[in-house]
Amino acid sequence: MSAGLVQAAYIIAAVFFIMSLAGLSKQESARAGNYYGIAGMAIALLATIFGPHSSGIAWILLAMVIGGGIGIHFARKVEMTEMPELVAILHSFVGMAAVLVGYNSLIDAPILTTHAEHMIHLVEVYIGVFIGAVTFTGSIVAFGKLRGVISSSPLNLPHKHKLNLAAIVVSALLMKWYLGSDGGLLPLFLMTLIAFAFGYHLVASIGGADMPVVVSMLNSYSGWAAAAAGFMLANDLLIVTGALVGSSGAILSYIMCKAMNRSFISVIAGGFGQEVAVSTGDEEQGEHRESSAEEVAEMLKNSKSVIITPGYGMAVAQAQYPVHEITEKLRAQGIDVRFGIHPVAGRLPGHMNVLLAEAKVPYDIVLEMDEINDDFPETDTVLVIGANDTVNPAALDDPTSPIAGMPVLEVWNAQNVVVFKRSMNTGYAGVQNPLFFKENSSMLFGDAKESCMKIIEHL
Ligand code: NDP
Repeated sequence: MSAGLVQAAYIIAAVFFIMSLAGLSKQESARAGNYYGIAGMAIALLATIFGPHSSGIAWILLAMVIGGGIGIHFARKVEMTEMPELVAILHSFVGMAAVLVGYNSLIDAPILTTHAEHMIHLVEVYIGVFIGAVTFTGSIVAFGKLRGVISSSPLNLPHKHKLNLAAIVVSALLMKWYLGSDGGLLPLFLMTLIAFAFGYHLVASIGGADMPVVVSMLNSYSGWAAAAAGFMLANDLLIVTGALVGSSGAILSYIMCKAMNRSFISVIAGGFGQEVAVSTGDEEQGEHRESSAEEVAEMLKNSKSVIITPGYGMAVAQAQYPVHEITEKLRAQGIDVRFGIHPVAGRLPGHMNVLLAEAKVPYDIVLEMDEINDDFPETDTVLVIGANDTVNPAALDDPTSPIAGMPVLEVWNAQNVVVFKRSMNTGYAGVQNPLFFKENSSMLFGDAKESCMKIIEHL
């Protein structure tokens, strides 16, 4: 394939990637968006593999078969609840790839004619390795936190912000040494170690409730790491694709921060400004009332309007199908049923929307938090299916709570609230929920799917 043809293919692939992003922004067009992305990636791979700068095609194909095989195996095996972890670990691969490309591109440097070009290349390598290394360890910590193997509470080292600042300052000094020694491996290696530690510390310092922003932020970092690799390899498509992922991840992080009423800078700086004493608040705060499936079914039948607010527990229980069935049964009896989706419900942006779409819940009754929050006072019954932090009134009432200031679904304003969960355990942020002890709340204990199926029997 000639260089001209490769460039043309790259432009077509870039257009497909943009169409893919546009498609993914709406549920109705998300499937098409995925296909555009696949088409763009197929074109990009073919053009790169058969382009004039590739050699050893057999080795590339062998690596693709092995890598693709491992990828397909894990993608088929992964449960929907494990998706966020999978995404986090995939981000770490992009980070490591950028580090390896950086070292390779320094050792096996391209022939550059002018001194300026040479210096630019050295800077590209340094920055690419730095971003890649931060992304790598940061994503591994995010993976650990999402999987529950690393505590979700923030790591609070003394002088943590000074440590972060020191890491940046020392990396900048090492860059001076590295450029002065015409691309010395030792300063690059020392900076890599610092960047690994920096990435680890940055994400470990962020508490459970801010994890959604971390996931989207690492998504953004992985994009910039890919763009940096594109500069090092002089591959225009990798630069464009990396920039698309980097900027869309940054926009998503901003949206998540706004949804959680957090300052973007404070979250990306590793929980900056969170040093005020916070209450862990995991102790119980009064008496709770228990309900049965039969009582809940009766309550639903006597309601005119119902709102369902799902959370992570719905994903764990895979309760979206019986939840849909309950919805259909109630709607058939003329009861108005809608869903209220908190922007950070579940463990992945859009997690609940994906589950409800999978169960074929009509899109027009699935509303965002802002669209539905004012309707709770006129609602007869709210079913909280496996949600906890996203319906916690402490976020509004308790300024010392770790989730203070985060807008939540104000379900307690409805006539009756039923909370489906297995125990009185706290949610992801580890904070007790005063909702459970309110007079109009009752608990329906048990696995959410089983509880829903029992309700269906009684409807
Ligand atoms: P939470 O994680 O706060 O709570 C989920 C609840 O589901 C738990 O209290 C648990 O209680 C219950 N549960 C678990 N399994 C079952 C089951 N099989 N049947 C019934 N209930 C079950 O959920 P939310 O969705 O309300 O909040 C999401 C949290 O995750 C927020 O803190 C958010 O910041 C964080 N997060 C969100 C991300 C995102 O991008 N959306 C990413 C990372 C973190 P019990 O054990 O008693 O059953």
